[in-house]
Amino acid sequence: MIQSTDHARSYYRASANAMPERPPLGADLSADVCVIGGGFTGVNTAIELAQRGLSVVLLEARRIGWGASGRNGGQLIRGIGHDVSGFAKYVGEEGVRYLERAGIESVALVGERIREQGIDCDLRWGFCELANTPAQFAAFKGEQESLAAMGYAHETRLVELKDMQHVVGSTVYAGGLVDMGSGHLHPLNLVLGEAQLAESLGVRIFEQTEVLELIHGDTVQVRCAGGTVRAANLVLACNAHLEELEPRLSGKVLPAGSYIIATEPLSAQLASELIPQNLALCDQKVGLDYYRLSADRRLLFGGACHYSGRDPVDIAAYMQPKMLKVFPQLANTAIEFQWGGKIGITANRFPQVGRLSQYPNVFYAQGYSGHGLNVTHWCAKLLAEGIHAGHSRGLDIFSQVPHMTFPGGKALRSPLLALGMLWYRLRELVN
Ligand SMILES: Cc1cc2nc3c(=O)[nH]c(=O)nc-3n(C[C@H](O)[C@H](O)[C@H](O)COP(=O)(O)OP(=O)(O)OC[C@H]3O[C@@H](n4cnc5c(N)ncnc54)[C@H](O)[C@@H]3O)c2cc1C
Repeated sequence: MIQSTDHARSYYRASANAMPERPPLGADLSADVCVIGGGFTGVNTAIELAQRGLSVVLLEARRIGWGASGRNGGQLIRGIGHDVSGFAKYVGEEGVRYLERAGIESVALVGERIREQGIDCDLRWGFCELANTPAQFAAFKGEQESLAAMGYAHETRLVELKDMQHVVGSTVYAGGLVDMGSGHLHPLNLVLGEAQLAESLGVRIFEQTEVLELIHGDTVQVRCAGGTVRAANLVLACNAHLEELEPRLSGKVLPAGSYIIATEPLSAQLASELIPQNLALCDQKVGLDYYRLSADRRLLFGGACHYSGRDPVDIAAYMQPKMLKVFPQLANTAIEFQWGGKIGITANRFPQVGRLSQYPNVFYAQGYSGHGLNVTHWCAKLLAEGIHAGHSRGLDIFSQVPHMTFPGGKALRSPLLALGMLWYRLRELVN
């Protein structure tokens, strides 16, 4: 059962645009499609379906943007999360090329949505990938060349150690790769603006409406405390919060905690010393550091990846030393917000998108493994194509990559993965 139904006490909630409350479901309804989950995946699938003329009911257990979509680092970065070339054995070389393009076009899709709808969410272009070691910096050259070979339309720039102060006021990095086609934004304001768009297209949104049971069939029955929605198709967009609602999917995504702190607003001089070009930044460690400036010049510093299911008791006390390692000059700067969220991790770090083989009218997208801002929007488009046209090439390609189930059952999944991660961290320390 649901524990908390309001937004996390984050900087995003404190600086959110209008957050109109939607009523809980209070009657039985019918629709072409019922979407469960009010994050980027659910809201954008609803938009794409409504734009194709289908009637949609969206059910959210808490508030729109309550999950990862309203709490994340706000880094809008090209790619599907990591190198997709290893998936050629499942999707072929052409499929790999499709996935590489999707990783780029999905960023443009988010940018277009923001521009076309005039969504006020502090979008800024520019991102720098940070190398923790000289070997990582050397690999950036290959990455830049691959982008150029694909005809990447945006400026990319290698930054050598001696020039790093032009992108970040820290001495801990070995170099960087700037990409002006990625950027950063206020994620809660984005999803709130998108929900408004969905409603303007006729989507019926219900908040504080937890789906309790699914009864499968040609018409799916979606049972909630206040009523049942009957729909020809169902979309599961619950990501790391799915729990046991659909047991065929829940063992495939592991919820992992990631945490963010926000400082007090910095002076213009200090902000431009830390991040002179107002880029989003992210390093290469296993439990990576990701950070950026907010529109009111706070440093939003995120990191960690906890599989234990236990969040730190004091997130600020846990995250501040990580921030000070990068920026010791913030030793006397107050932390004003701290929060965490659940990332949906998959065994191969590739998102799981498709339809249930037993019930082909049930579609899902989940497990973006910490890289969902752009990919959620792309997958939403694929789900809508698949439901509306009965077929989508992109959906077929994504779903050809196997959706592995974590070993160990519900009780052992997290400890086993925690052990695996420890091994990677130890490797990081000795290398
Ligand atoms: C701290 C953090 C930082 C991150 N930083 C970045 C970043 O900088 N860049 C990036 O690209 N990605 C980032 N991510 C990942 C990104 O936020 C996610 O991939 C993306 O938001 C997933 O969106 P979603 O809609 O699939 O899931 P969510 O936003 O989690 O939404 C799922 C929704 O489903 C609802 N739900 C669940 N069960 C039910 C039910 N039974 N009935 C009704 N509703 C239900 C939940 O209440 C929730 O609102 C980060 C994630 C976290 C947690």
